[in-house]
Amino acid sequence: MTVSTGRDRAFVIVGASLAGAKAAEALREAGHDGPVVLVGEERERPYERPPLSKGYLLGTSEREKIFVHPPQWYAEHDVTLRLGTAVTAVDPAAHTVSLADGERLGYAKLLLTTGSSPRRLPVPGAELAGVHYLRRVEDCERLKAVLRPAARIVVIGAGWIGLETAAAARAAGAEVTVLESAELPLLRVLGREVAEVFAGLHRDHGVDLRFGVQVEALTGGADGVAGVRLADGSTVAADAVVVGIGITPNTALAEAAGLTVDNGVRTDERLRTSDPDVHAAGDVANAFHPLLDKHIRVEHWANAFNQPQTAARAMLGQDVVYDRIPYFFSDQYDLGMEYTGHVEPDGYDRVVFRGDVAGREFIAFWLSGGRVLAGMNVNVWDVTDPIRELVRSGRPVDPAALADPATDLADLADLPDKR
Ligand SMILES: Cc1cc2nc3c(=O)[nH]c(=O)nc-3n(C[C@H](O)[C@H](O)[C@H](O)COP(=O)(O)OP(=O)(O)OC[C@H]3O[C@@H](n4cnc5c(N)ncnc54)[C@H](O)[C@@H]3O)c2cc1C
Repeated sequence: MTVSTGRDRAFVIVGASLAGAKAAEALREAGHDGPVVLVGEERERPYERPPLSKGYLLGTSEREKIFVHPPQWYAEHDVTLRLGTAVTAVDPAAHTVSLADGERLGYAKLLLTTGSSPRRLPVPGAELAGVHYLRRVEDCERLKAVLRPAARIVVIGAGWIGLETAAAARAAGAEVTVLESAELPLLRVLGREVAEVFAGLHRDHGVDLRFGVQVEALTGGADGVAGVRLADGSTVAADAVVVGIGITPNTALAEAAGLTVDNGVRTDERLRTSDPDVHAAGDVANAFHPLLDKHIRVEHWANAFNQPQTAARAMLGQDVVYDRIPYFFSDQYDLGMEYTGHVEPDGYDRVVFRGDVAGREFIAFWLSGGRVLAGMNVNVWDVTDPIRELVRSGRPVDPAALADPATDLADLADLPDKR
């Protein structure tokens, strides 16, 4: 059966999460009055994922708080929301998408916001009950049920998801072991200097951190997982295992449709894919960034929140580019941080600290050739504007002034409104 939503005017969005919902909103805000159809395979209306490893997992914030819009918003804005519906194919020549039930929708413009999925643990035993991944709200609810006092929780992977989960598990009174193949947590993202801070944070909160270890198998049986066997032959006992070893972009649809895929769906700075009527945004998009002069794929909330504004306007034919400096945040125990900028692994030559690193109240700057590539404020607030400006300007800065709390960052960034 073919149901056309009005090929000449319909804008179809595939993936009903943060980026998809913000795109629908942006289309309406930009004045598009034709049909907007938002198709998502999850059954929940679009929601935000950060609370799934923080407030909602911790039990400090309510379920209703995770959603991007209230339920009535979609009808009020004449956005057709098709939940529990996977898109199985895109035909760019015919301008149609096929749905799992055989229905086809015509489109004038298509936006792919298909996001990403957790990388699966490729070892024997990984399918045992009690092995958790954390991406969807139901994953969070299953995990929440096992984070209990004295439960033995083993986290595989010391990335953001693994560390935030470790913090939530400790808050619930669980015994937590984190297994990581690298020498430090977050080593590729932060480099050694700042990664040490996160190792110290978790150690101080009673997490058993094991670095440089290889997971060989998960052990257990009909009752579920019982342990994690390491390459050195030792086994770490576990009542539950949480796997956080990274994500991969959901590119299968784009690939099958013949779009250019390379670490995500490749787009230009207008978020347009290799097909002029198909755009991509959020976790799935590997977009050309004009300031950084390269393609980057950003797996963070702010990108999924902001890129759709540009994508929607570009779909409407407006002359817009996406050149925001990447930004993300994390909360673990009493540490809150924001990171502004972009550094490739080993892409910096110096880290400059300002403030009290031991007391975990500081700003770290990653520099290359005297220019600030990124800054991370830890338990220091209201500094992202000057940090962003320092990164954006690409101007060389005096490292001594950067390190000196007496020097106003707004002065260094040459911001007109300093406060
Ligand atoms: C637990 C957790 C905590 C996080 N915490 C932070 C944080 O503290 N700070 C931060 O900056 N970022 C955080 N993130 C990352 C942030 O949530 C993501 O960057 C963001 O969700 C990306 O949004 P998206 O809409 O691009 O993709 P996604 O959220 O991945 O959504 C994509 C949607 O598309 C659907 N879909 C895929 N294929 C199809 C198809 N063929 N048909 C129909 N639907 C499809 C998927 O089911 C999904 O619902 C966190 C992520 C997780 C999982």
